[in-house]
Amino acid sequence: MSKETLGFQTEVKQLLHLMIHALYSNKEIFLRELISNASDACDKLRFEALDNGALFEGDGELKIQLSFDKDARTITIADNGIGMRRDEVIANIGTIARSGTKEFFSQLTGDSAKDSHLIGQFGVGFYSAFIVADKVTLTTRRAGQTDAVRWESAGDGEFTIEDVEKPGRGTEIVLHLKEGEDEFLNDWRLRAIVTKYSDHISLPILMKKRPEYDDEGKEIPGDGVEAVNQANALWTRNKSDISDEQYQEFYKHVAHDFDEPLAWSHARIEGRQEYTELLYIPKRAPFDLYDRDRRHGVKLYVKRVFILEDHDKLMPQYLRFVRGVIDSNDLPLNVSREILQQSKDVDTIRAGCVKKVLGLLEDLRDNRPDDYAVFWQEFGKVLKEGTGEDFANKDRIAGLLRFASTHGEGDAQQVSLADYIGRMKDGQDRIYYITADSHAAASHSPHLEVFRKKGIEVLLLSDRVDEWLVSSLTEFDGRKLQSVAKGELDLSAFADEAEKQQQEAAAEALKDVVTAIKDALGEQVKDVRVTTRLTDSPACLVVENFDMSGNLERLLKSAGQ
Ligand code: ADP
Ligand code: MG
Repeated sequence: MSKETLGFQTEVKQLLHLMIHALYSNKEIFLRELISNASDACDKLRFEALDNGALFEGDGELKIQLSFDKDARTITIADNGIGMRRDEVIANIGTIARSGTKEFFSQLTGDSAKDSHLIGQFGVGFYSAFIVADKVTLTTRRAGQTDAVRWESAGDGEFTIEDVEKPGRGTEIVLHLKEGEDEFLNDWRLRAIVTKYSDHISLPILMKKRPEYDDEGKEIPGDGVEAVNQANALWTRNKSDISDEQYQEFYKHVAHDFDEPLAWSHARIEGRQEYTELLYIPKRAPFDLYDRDRRHGVKLYVKRVFILEDHDKLMPQYLRFVRGVIDSNDLPLNVSREILQQSKDVDTIRAGCVKKVLGLLEDLRDNRPDDYAVFWQEFGKVLKEGTGEDFANKDRIAGLLRFASTHGEGDAQQVSLADYIGRMKDGQDRIYYITADSHAAASHSPHLEVFRKKGIEVLLLSDRVDEWLVSSLTEFDGRKLQSVAKGELDLSAFADEAEKQQQEAAAEALKDVVTAIKDALGEQVKDVRVTTRLTDSPACLVVENFDMSGNLERLLKSAGQ
């Protein structure tokens, strides 16, 4: 096919513009992104070659080559990974019709500090080449195919694509540097960037050897190439040999995140299943946290071969924000999504990893409360799904929960169930809560009157997921959770003698009134009772203990049930 010129999607144009303006202070990350893509491409090839060894075309030594040309003012990054077909080039780097794109753009604020974080969440990726380049030429041939294509763009509105010859498979990207970016045409500078951001990449990143000097100081040009990174998978190294910075850079690579992670857990597990896990808690929720077609999850490796990136088998739904890698020594290399689903071995690994993540969160909770608050703010609603989803770990999850309550001010969720129990009144044996559509509705509910009066704390639940939470979490540490809006409320333990007598007298005196109201309301109510739950309001609606709460009923109605 001859050369054709195609237009970028409007969103790509916007993204490019934003990125170049938001990331100008950290230009060097373009190299990290392109090396990261080259490494992903090699992982994909290695995986496809498990079934079809011919894809290696007799060259199984996967590598990334980095070079520069001072005179031409170019930097070249080449890999011998999977490569791309013409249609893949157009789909992958001509458009960004990925799930979540629309939402991403709808969240942009115009405030560049905030937006640069969003860009980070979205994944900076290939287009970061245009931070330093005013023209990018990408030539690629997919493994096993004969046709190669060349894509070229100046990062403005359009790109060209044409058929070319390319003997070696894989992708080569040439960056034609902008005026003023010559600092990158430097061996030391490039090596320093690779060491800083890409040392963890498990393939060799090769550069031309440095010149050597003889006894008289005469330059002997370097011969051949050498790896500038350690070139072994980071998670296979000993913990003591990995710096925090290396852990953080690796996170950005696996999670496609721009931010540092909040915390991580790295362990080699031996036993029924032998595997290594390196799992991270991000600092910010990705914009597609509630999207069924989420882009990222946990990566599964088998004996250092990348198998797949998974977002529902290796981690339960309520831990879907976790990122990182699991590398198994025992699973078969041909493990597929279908096998993952049924494998007992995968269940064992998953259960072990869940425990690691819960342990990590407990550690954060106990030792880094400020960071735990950040975590809760971002992921608390998701974690709450866990009490219903993960029966085996229900108590541990309950121990991680945070709520707003009548003890605190405002809607911040800061009270743990343990805090609550610590403040329980003498004789109180239940954990009281109320659910409502909003924090304001919860905190102004007439059901709270008597609790306020008696100084009994009530948890104020107003997240959508809270109804499901209280339907699955019925007790904590031997105390039952009790809705203040349900059933008979027995607060007699907190009444003094005078109050008790007053109540009995009231019940007696109001007998006829109750009968009259019952007659008037007839079938519309189950019962009418004299209550001590109100102090200011004359009456309130209450549901039976085992009935749906008013709030759940409203939720179901709004969901069309
Ligand atoms: P991400 O890496 O998060 O998917 P990028 O913008 O970095 O996003 O890359 C977009 C896509 O382009 C990749 O998902 C991949 O399909 C393709 N791609 C980029 N670089 C390469 C490469 N060197 N070899 C093969 N495919 C590539
Ligand atoms: Mg990428």
